[in-house]
Amino acid sequence: MKKCQHLISHARLVTCTDGPQALGTIESGSVALDQGVIVWAGPTSQCPYQGNDTTDAKGRLVTPALIDCHTHLVFAGNRANEFAMRLAGASYEAIAQAGGGILSTVEATRQASVDELTQLALPRALALRAQGVMTIEIKSGYGLDLDNEIKMLKAAKAVGQAAGVNVTTTLLAAHALPPEYKENRQGYVDLICQEIIPQVAKQGLADAVDAFCEGIGFTVAETRQVFDAAARWGLPVKLHADQLSDLSGAGLVAEYGGLSADHIEYTNDKSIEAMAEHDTVATLLPYAFYALQETKKPPIAGFRKRGVDMAVATDCNPGTAPTTNILQCLHMACTQFGLTVDEAFLGVTRHAAKALGLDHKKGQIASGFDAELLLWDVDDVAQLIYWQGDQKPTLICG
Ligand SMILES: [Zn+2]
Repeated sequence: MKKCQHLISHARLVTCTDGPQALGTIESGSVALDQGVIVWAGPTSQCPYQGNDTTDAKGRLVTPALIDCHTHLVFAGNRANEFAMRLAGASYEAIAQAGGGILSTVEATRQASVDELTQLALPRALALRAQGVMTIEIKSGYGLDLDNEIKMLKAAKAVGQAAGVNVTTTLLAAHALPPEYKENRQGYVDLICQEIIPQVAKQGLADAVDAFCEGIGFTVAETRQVFDAAARWGLPVKLHADQLSDLSGAGLVAEYGGLSADHIEYTNDKSIEAMAEHDTVATLLPYAFYALQETKKPPIAGFRKRGVDMAVATDCNPGTAPTTNILQCLHMACTQFGLTVDEAFLGVTRHAAKALGLDHKKGQIASGFDAELLLWDVDDVAQLIYWQGDQKPTLICG
């Protein structure tokens, strides 16, 4: 018998490995963990390992740790008042005049320090962690100038340290036009391309670059400038694409070899083909769809037909997705968009890892992958998604 630090046995093992069977379930499985890495996974009856520590799962479910691959969880202030005003019948203009909307979050975020932003975001990260999320992507995008975007990215990294989760950071300076550039759009795009991206890249503060390509965001031509700058600095790209209208944004990010196209309610067939060709993940954000009371659903059948991998994320943000409940988002991806249980679960494991460029080490239970596993008090993945309560797994790290 070989030795390892920790051995899990008799688990209903959901490996999420890339095989013919979607979830790769092993009915009575073992996993051997050593020095932070999975060294073996397979049927308990064939396990060649003995562990210094052991966990007998007694038939319960063991899965990879979850991944939330699209969040904006670093921000100051909140938009509850705006929510109440809207329900009381206030128009968007009235809310904007009262200082509401994304620019209210920008103003509050600009006034906060790195430490204050970290403390505000920490409970959100811990809430995700309590549901088994061990990797969180966090975007900037409420600073909208060099210093404040850098401040947000530093806070995002600090949140990861404080919460004990892996954080990947995404620069989203092209989120909204800051008020001081209201009459000078190109001036702001130049600032992003010539100052913010180079500085952030030099300081190693971002793992990817994102933009909001939309009628109320940035045009295709402006997004191209941002992506070209990201490419010059060796940073991969992602995109808020086709959320409210079809600008062929998903096709655009695929053309740049992007990691993911996100939202994608209005994505057309040609863009889906481009995503399949360039292996760009389709990230679904059902909570924002619900909160905005959208009716146009993402083209799930098209993604399936072309073999485009689908991820699911919370989109945690103060405006359109005030949530840290990733299991509820899985439920919504199934009920609203028609994902199968297996598709939804791969959306927060293997495919979420791919949307972050981490698919070589996260999101699967397989030899060589990071030893971050969850033991759930159920025996079936469907139970995690079907039941909307308070399911909390036990984290097992190697
Ligand atoms: Zn978003």
